[in-house]
Amino acid sequence: MVNRKRIGVIGAGMAGLIATATLAKQGHQVSLFERAKYPGGTAGFYLRKGVDYPTGATISFGMEPGGPLQTLLNQAGVFLKAIPTDHSMDVVLQDRVIHIYHELDRWYEELARAFPERAKEVILFWERLHEVANVVYRISKTLISMPIPRPNEWGQLLKVMRQSPLSFFHLLPEVHWTVADAVNKYGLLDYAPFCRFLNAQLTDAAQTDISGAAWLPSAIALDIYRDGVYSVSGGFSTISQALKQRTSDLGATLYFSTTIEEALYKQSSKKWMLFTNHHESFEFDVVINASGTSIKGTAQAINAGALEANQWGAVRIDAWVPTSWVKQLGLSVDTTINPFAYQIATDIEIGEMLHDPYGAVYVTIHPSNTDRQVISISIHTPASDWLYLNTEDYRTKKEWATSALLERVERILPGFQKHAMVMRTGTPFTYQKYLLKQAVGGTPLTLYYSIFHPTSVKTRLPGWLIAGDSVFPGPGVMSAAISGFYAARAIDPSISID
Ligand SMILES: Cc1cc2nc3c(=O)[nH]c(=O)nc-3n(C[C@H](O)[C@H](O)[C@H](O)COP(=O)(O)OP(=O)(O)OC[C@H]3O[C@@H](n4cnc5c(N)ncnc54)[C@H](O)[C@@H]3O)c2cc1C
Repeated sequence: MVNRKRIGVIGAGMAGLIATATLAKQGHQVSLFERAKYPGGTAGFYLRKGVDYPTGATISFGMEPGGPLQTLLNQAGVFLKAIPTDHSMDVVLQDRVIHIYHELDRWYEELARAFPERAKEVILFWERLHEVANVVYRISKTLISMPIPRPNEWGQLLKVMRQSPLSFFHLLPEVHWTVADAVNKYGLLDYAPFCRFLNAQLTDAAQTDISGAAWLPSAIALDIYRDGVYSVSGGFSTISQALKQRTSDLGATLYFSTTIEEALYKQSSKKWMLFTNHHESFEFDVVINASGTSIKGTAQAINAGALEANQWGAVRIDAWVPTSWVKQLGLSVDTTINPFAYQIATDIEIGEMLHDPYGAVYVTIHPSNTDRQVISISIHTPASDWLYLNTEDYRTKKEWATSALLERVERILPGFQKHAMVMRTGTPFTYQKYLLKQAVGGTPLTLYYSIFHPTSVKTRLPGWLIAGDSVFPGPGVMSAAISGFYAARAIDPSISID
């Protein structure tokens, strides 16, 4: 271990929790500050009248044995049961439904059934996508950071490359491709239903569409819905709760309901002072800002481009319905064990109103072993659209969005509005109020951010690192966790994955 350091971590989202656990395990003295009452950030939960609602994330990736998230949790000493899902999602287009199946042969059959007009090309496309995803995922699992900062990480990369040099060789001409380039190669760019399907999936997983999404990381983002959706026993919030418990057991000090309002670097002592909303101050050798927001006094620490790109906010409705009613729907999946999601795309009217070009509505039925099941509904919307509205316009927009979303859900779950106990609609303002973040999408997986200019955990400020979904590798729980690990390893290079 390097010298024991005093480290401050801002934000108990997945990045902050993984960074804290990893560093505390190495014996560093870590303090974690979180604005909200509960851990997890946008992959967390909140409680209302005894019901546990997710704040955002509902589907976990990388939880398979050896998967990046599972590996990071295990190395921190957190062991959670992950249940693979055979059928994680249905994508509902206006003229067809695509069932996302885990098993590869079944998936190819499904592609042929759902896209009969161009089945051959679609399957050829997916076969290549699957190959690319496998190679890129293999690299991701080694937890090599970008930009590659340390000689031994180059060594790791070469080691992986040597295992199948030909696959890497074939990847090289595709490094600068967008997904649209790959779609074009298979003659599918004019095949609207397939492009709609890809765009809906990418808006969620890559925060951009086929024209913007970098092919290599997006191949994982697309294939992982089929290959890597795992349900965590106890529900999604179990991950953040288990990490909270573990960080505390490892000796980290946790401050919930505590917002860091300002930071100050003391040149003389080379230490950072963090100031909280409770008028307290703390001194640290190093700080990891895993909040995804800019802290006063550190503006130059955030990659301006990443902030600029981090535009997507969300409108979300949380409700619960009786489990008996979900059973009556006769779904082909057991939603008492696994979450099951619908992605309803492409809806021009709701897309125009909320400025999401693909108008994709995500509906997740959460697993439950009680008599009620939580259903969350969400859609992308640019956070800035909600910022400058007066009270009346804000209320009108929120009401319109709520009824438009409920009406879409009714189409796939008839009777939903009759049975649902609608708790509340959240908008970018809600995220701002509780998590200080209006934009919650993370950095999009464009060529710029994921290939040519990946945002490093290191900043121009001494001893000030950043982590989270606006840092490489980008959006999503698994990626945020990986960036938290990178930040920890940048502070203590002796950290490695066993
Ligand atoms: C509606 C929605 C659905 C999603 N669905 C999925 C999904 O199904 N699967 C998936 O993988 N990903 C999903 N995501 C994305 C995923 O949740 C995020 O990419 C990931 O969790 C981000 O983690 P993070 O650590 O970067 O930050 P965050 O989760 O944003 O956490 C940052 C934390 O910092 C805290 N904070 C902010 N400012 C301060 C401050 N000044 N002082 C103290 N604390 C502060 C906040 O309260 C917050 O807890 C979804 C996101 C949303 C919004």
